[in-house]
Amino acid sequence: MNKMKTTNEFPDKIYLTADEIPKAWYNLRADMDKKPAPLINPATGDPVTLEELTCIFTEEGAKQELDETTKFIPIPEEIQNQYRKFRPAPLVRAADFEKAIGTSAKIYYKFEGNNTSGSHKLNSAIAQAYYAKKEGLTHLTTETGAGQWGTALAMSCEKMGLDLTVYMVKCSYEQKPFRREIMKTFGGRVVPSPSMETEAGKKILSENPDNPGSLGVAISEAVETAVTTPSTKYVLGSVLNQVLLHQTIIGLETQVAMKKYGIKPDVIVGCAGGGSNLGGFMAPFLGEQLRGEEHYKFIAAESASCPSLTKGEFKYDYCDTGRVTPMAKMYTMGYDYIPPSNHAGGLRYHGMSPILSEIYHQGLMEAYAYEQHDVFEANTIFARAEGILPAPESGHAIKAVIDEATKFPASKTDTTGPVIVFCLSGTGFFDMVAYGKYNNGEL
Ligand SMILES: *Cc1c(COP(=O)(O)O)cnc(C)c1O
Repeated sequence: MNKMKTTNEFPDKIYLTADEIPKAWYNLRADMDKKPAPLINPATGDPVTLEELTCIFTEEGAKQELDETTKFIPIPEEIQNQYRKFRPAPLVRAADFEKAIGTSAKIYYKFEGNNTSGSHKLNSAIAQAYYAKKEGLTHLTTETGAGQWGTALAMSCEKMGLDLTVYMVKCSYEQKPFRREIMKTFGGRVVPSPSMETEAGKKILSENPDNPGSLGVAISEAVETAVTTPSTKYVLGSVLNQVLLHQTIIGLETQVAMKKYGIKPDVIVGCAGGGSNLGGFMAPFLGEQLRGEEHYKFIAAESASCPSLTKGEFKYDYCDTGRVTPMAKMYTMGYDYIPPSNHAGGLRYHGMSPILSEIYHQGLMEAYAYEQHDVFEANTIFARAEGILPAPESGHAIKAVIDEATKFPASKTDTTGPVIVFCLSGTGFFDMVAYGKYNNGEL
């Protein structure tokens, strides 16, 4: 359908009304012939049961985790009400960015950074806090790396009247005081991890008191506290099937918006840490492809310091360093992998969503890993052109978009390039130390 259009017929900004926000999440697994492998209980080697999962997760979260058949899962009204405070997220044509990089591609971005948590993570945080409240819990625990997930969950727990303990990777706790303080402002209790509060933390500190922490370690601590504290459950901000499900709101809105203007994306790009923004963004489009309705090119952009898709192994592995969680079949660097220091805190997870892993394994998606210098260079071009400062994580997607778009140089007619749409997962306002290093030539 795009062939009929001249470049000016691609609108600059695509608006949706509040009524057009989708009212159900889309469960991609329902359209997958070969499903992602189940989580297994390492003690028995059998797939985890609903009962086992509810020891750690909320009941509704556990049900969603295991549901492979319900195609659309209604978004409860209370969650829709919260979504309307920051959604629909804008879908914007990056026309100046197209000029800056000299391409005939038409580039759109879906911006998820328009809320105080600064990223897409609020989409799942609200849902998970809502379910916890509904089943009468009083307290949630979680981990956070760079702090985006912890912030989103602190905001959500405050809304739902729940206490929150956040185990924050120690090096981030020290390097990102602003993140720490937002979480506290919204009422979260923030503990640098590894800590002396848990057996997992004590064990790691006894081996190395200077351990800088990692997401895997922080998860172990958060899970341990959840299972040993009454009325407390653990929630996770990425990787899990339920999180990808909640994040499909990103892709569903994009789908509605593009259909409204008769635009078909050719290439769909996102950055991948645990896979939730990309998974949620591409899911409705991949569903069309799996049903034989359309064809797209999907691209995952990951960090070269934690390249699970491009360099990891596809196998069963633990989701955390302390080996207290179920095992997932995924592309992984190994549960004890500690990535070299890198400013894209959200892309430091050792594994990858089992759904995205299976999709990649089936050859339905391409993946590329990028070095942080190139990512900040891409971010700077984008910021200058579009007036939005991207998160370092999101910059990986921008770098991938540049590589893809510049295969189609600008021409006089400008009709040859593909339509590329990418998820701009967050803002970089809390990453100015990293931008400073880049600006000073220290990256
Ligand atoms: C957390 C985060 C990511 C990575 O997480 P995914 O689950 O892979 O989406 C990417 N971008 C931003 C801005 C983040 O906060």
